[in-house]
Amino acid sequence: MTGKRYTEDFRIRPGKRVRLADFDPAFKGEHSKGHALRKTQELCGGISELQQKLYAERKRSLLICLQALDAGGKDGVVKHVIGSMNPDGCDVANFKEPTPEELAHDFLWRVEAKTPKRGEIGIFNRSHYEDVLVVRVHNLVPKEAWSKRYDQINDFERRLALNGTHILKFFLHISKEEQLKRFEQRLDDPTKRWKISESDYTEREYWDDYVQAYEDALAKCNTEDSPWFVIPADHKWFRDLVVSEIIVATLESMDIQVPKPTVNIEDIRQKYHSAVKAAKHGRVSRKGRARA
Ligand code: AMP
Ligand code: MG
Repeated sequence: MTGKRYTEDFRIRPGKRVRLADFDPAFKGEHSKGHALRKTQELCGGISELQQKLYAERKRSLLICLQALDAGGKDGVVKHVIGSMNPDGCDVANFKEPTPEELAHDFLWRVEAKTPKRGEIGIFNRSHYEDVLVVRVHNLVPKEAWSKRYDQINDFERRLALNGTHILKFFLHISKEEQLKRFEQRLDDPTKRWKISESDYTEREYWDDYVQAYEDALAKCNTEDSPWFVIPADHKWFRDLVVSEIIVATLESMDIQVPKPTVNIEDIRQKYHSAVKAAKHGRVSRKGRARA
């Protein structure tokens, strides 16, 4: 259904240093917006079909982690791409500031609880990576603690992968100018005002620190089994196109096998025909009774 073009283009090569300045957040390829929207709709149809097969197979799962700076478009991807999935087979988990109970456990405890079951797709809107991003930028724990988390994250993701969970990690990459434009839209559009937070502006002042923290996380926690993708996200329609294409390509590469029926289909077909006959006969004899 799709080539693997974007899976190759926007994937970070394992073992490489990452410099976000090398990635253009406004990239949109050769696409027009109209063409991209149509293509995304088609890809979303593919996601929906493949999700149903994954659910029927019930052997493996897919975990999608969404990370971005404020206004980067995580909620947009959930709405426009994840929204095409059957809610019965997927689960979106939002990770906000940890509660006292979550803080009383190790940082992976709350994410562990939300990992997808076999057959399901789990979406993390923010994730365990916050524990090496916001936590690092604001020194919420000492360096001694956060610097050891990259290895712990790799171990955790490796364990998930060994147990049948395919992992995709998307960093939605926006420019500082585009962020400000989106903050303006939040101010001007009454339906978006609920999203405004003081922290949008305070965090913006830490932009360069976040870039550095992201560059480290993208480089240190990027394996064959758990790859990072840097998605150009200044154009929302291009972002959705790339994300949906990578999800389709990944699900296709899993060669999902829908299990064979456990019943004898010919026997069941006979039962069906008998039921149809009985239903017709029932209708006739009920009519007959009514006339009598
Ligand atoms: P939002 O996604 O806009 O609703 O904001 C959620 C907030 O929770 C962001 O400011 C995140 O940085 C913050 N957050 C998420 N995970 C953590 C964490 N592990 N430690 C501290 N803050 C976090
Ligand atoms: Mg926010």
